[in-house]
Amino acid sequence: MKNLILGLALLSSSAMARNMNLVEFTASTPQERSLIGNLIHLDGMNGDTVFSAVNDHDLELIKTHLPFLLSNITTIETEDNPGQEEEYPQGDEKFYTYEEMKAKFEELQKNYPQIVRMISFGRSFEGRELYGLHITNHSNKKSKPGILITGSHHAREHLSTDVPVRVAEKIILNSNQDKIKNLIETREIYFLPMLNPDGAMWDIRGRNYKIWRKNMRSSGTSAPYGVDLNRNYSQGWGGPGSSDRPASDIYRGPNPFSEPETKAVKKFIEENDNISVLLSFHSFSELILYPWGNTTAPLPSERDQRAYEIMAEEMAKWNNYQPMQASELYVASGDTCDWAWADHGIFCFTFELSPKYQWGPGGFYPGADAIDPAVDDNYNPVVYLIDLADNPYKVIE
Ligand SMILES: [Zn+2]
Repeated sequence: MKNLILGLALLSSSAMARNMNLVEFTASTPQERSLIGNLIHLDGMNGDTVFSAVNDHDLELIKTHLPFLLSNITTIETEDNPGQEEEYPQGDEKFYTYEEMKAKFEELQKNYPQIVRMISFGRSFEGRELYGLHITNHSNKKSKPGILITGSHHAREHLSTDVPVRVAEKIILNSNQDKIKNLIETREIYFLPMLNPDGAMWDIRGRNYKIWRKNMRSSGTSAPYGVDLNRNYSQGWGGPGSSDRPASDIYRGPNPFSEPETKAVKKFIEENDNISVLLSFHSFSELILYPWGNTTAPLPSERDQRAYEIMAEEMAKWNNYQPMQASELYVASGDTCDWAWADHGIFCFTFELSPKYQWGPGGFYPGADAIDPAVDDNYNPVVYLIDLADNPYKVIE
């Protein structure tokens, strides 16, 4: 989702606090305990000993202001420092981890060597290789129009990886059908389904979700603060709906394309100038969004505007998502589609996947049962866009 009205700054900072400190004070009077209570919460008391579990930030406060009451500190690892296991919480194992996605790509390449190539298009902040799939008839070398489908700019939007991976697989499995066969013959189809593998894997590490949004950018010594990759593109960068504060969940980074993940997308687009259509999967809200995001102004060309509207409405017939100009939702600057359209003339859509609402089972973590319906809902829109890659304007001609 482009934004979320939640205490995300709080959640993010708790995700960064990877230690908990069990602290004991010697405080025998109400006055002394009040001094502590003004700084932190108190969890227990036994005689003149007071106990509290505090994060590193609060521990520093105590050390600075009340060192004369501190009697003992025990630092322990907690859920916030969950270890290395990269698997989804129980019940959600069906979602692709980074390693599982890689293995799936290897399998598809092995089984369909004539039409599938696994590609690597860069490295993440933490050094993970960024993997994708290149689907086309690889023995036919002539230049063909291209389409790019991306997922998981945002760490916690795991469905936005599963949908492109599984839609890609479905296209491959259907490659003997006339229509799909023809598209694979005449198009270059690129899937880059996990643009933020560091954040996505941090979000599930230790098998508990952390509602992490950004990448894992850190200054090297401290906990990651992260950059919002979908505020780090250049068109309108620094404008409304983004922040210059690293603690913000919409932190745009120090400059456009400051992050290795967005740099990799930029390079990929520049190296594949046959790409005419881009679909960027996010979650959630069930929306089909198109430029502009950073201004409420319509597109300069009425023809372009009409082409976008028709394409969005056509796709909505399949997935029942609500089509709109991105800024109609709210204004946000530095996203993928504004840049792809402004700098490259690429027809670019952002899909906010299911569910529609935050409440009930849903939001970023709709459960494994949400995967198959989301794939079914979005297979036809993807095939539709692949078909349009040769000339998006054919929708109005
Ligand atoms: Zn998102």
